[in-house]
Amino acid sequence: MLTGLQVAIIGGDARQLEVVHKCSELDATVFLFGFDNLSNQFSGITKAELSPEVLQGMDAVILPAVGTDDEGQVETLFSSVVLKLTDEHIAALPKHAKVFTGMAKPYLRKLCTKYSIELIELFSLDDVAIYNSIPTAEGALMIAIQNTDITIHGSSCMVLGFGRTGLTMARTLQGIGARVQVGVNRPEYYARAHEMGLNPFYTSKLMSHVRDVDLLFNTIPSMIITAQVIAHMPHRAVIIDLASKPGGTDFRFAEKRGIKAILAPGLPGIVAPKTAGRIMADSMSRIIMEDARTRRNAE
Ligand code: NAP
Repeated sequence: MLTGLQVAIIGGDARQLEVVHKCSELDATVFLFGFDNLSNQFSGITKAELSPEVLQGMDAVILPAVGTDDEGQVETLFSSVVLKLTDEHIAALPKHAKVFTGMAKPYLRKLCTKYSIELIELFSLDDVAIYNSIPTAEGALMIAIQNTDITIHGSSCMVLGFGRTGLTMARTLQGIGARVQVGVNRPEYYARAHEMGLNPFYTSKLMSHVRDVDLLFNTIPSMIITAQVIAHMPHRAVIIDLASKPGGTDFRFAEKRGIKAILAPGLPGIVAPKTAGRIMADSMSRIIMEDARTRRNAE
């Protein structure tokens, strides 16, 4: 339980509602900032105006998936008020407080480092990344279906990268009957893909494996689907790039060659905001609880 702990939830989209719900369920004292247009009434929750004074007693500050922009502005889907996180806000937090977000921009990282406040980027945690790979793979399938005139069953699919997202993507495609090649960079990934009945190859040989591909899913966050690779692909192929912006595809060359290439970031929040919110809420509440327990034991 989070009894006796104070949590500030600042801005966000539908995912934050799951976080509000979870914190309230676990008996935290919850303060909401940037939720003035929210009709949903949560019991025992205080809507407040963001100020350094009100942040002084917080044990945790929860920001949206993308914490702030490069100027410190926080996305607020449920408010028309512009919220900006400044030095004064972070400086006011107690030293044990934790700031949570999905993925931070340099602005937020610098601010937290400056005031020695721990910043937790949820999307980089293994458990969150693995859970998030489920809505990501489902979203990628949705895009594949919308952009092809063949079934995925029986099609020739390729997944580049065999990490947390790539493995789930490959297994999902295999599960609905696609023929799946997996581009890897390590012998242990090669062995695992082989064990799963997938067709692994090393991405150093990517060019020679793309000749017959219908759907190419990329999870490698660096330029991998180069002009040379695209030149070897059939015109019917569709590239779905899941890697974080700017992706790993030469989009300009794909367009020139008439190959459809789609950059598809943020799929969990788009296709399954409730599940995505729950994944974040579960992980955050576990971390806040463990931290409170550690501090209690140290007292
Ligand atoms: P990850 O677990 O680190 O997986 C990436 C994998 O790519 C790693 O296993 C890495 O190998 C491998 N890799 C790197 N360079 C390679 C190369 N040249 N050839 C073959 N493999 C290579 O990361 P993740 O959690 O799966 O996330 C992957 C990307 O997807 C990230 O950019 C993430 O932000 C993004 N993402 C997007 C969505 C969405 O909605 N579109 C959702 C979740 C994540 P090593 O282990 O050797 O580094």
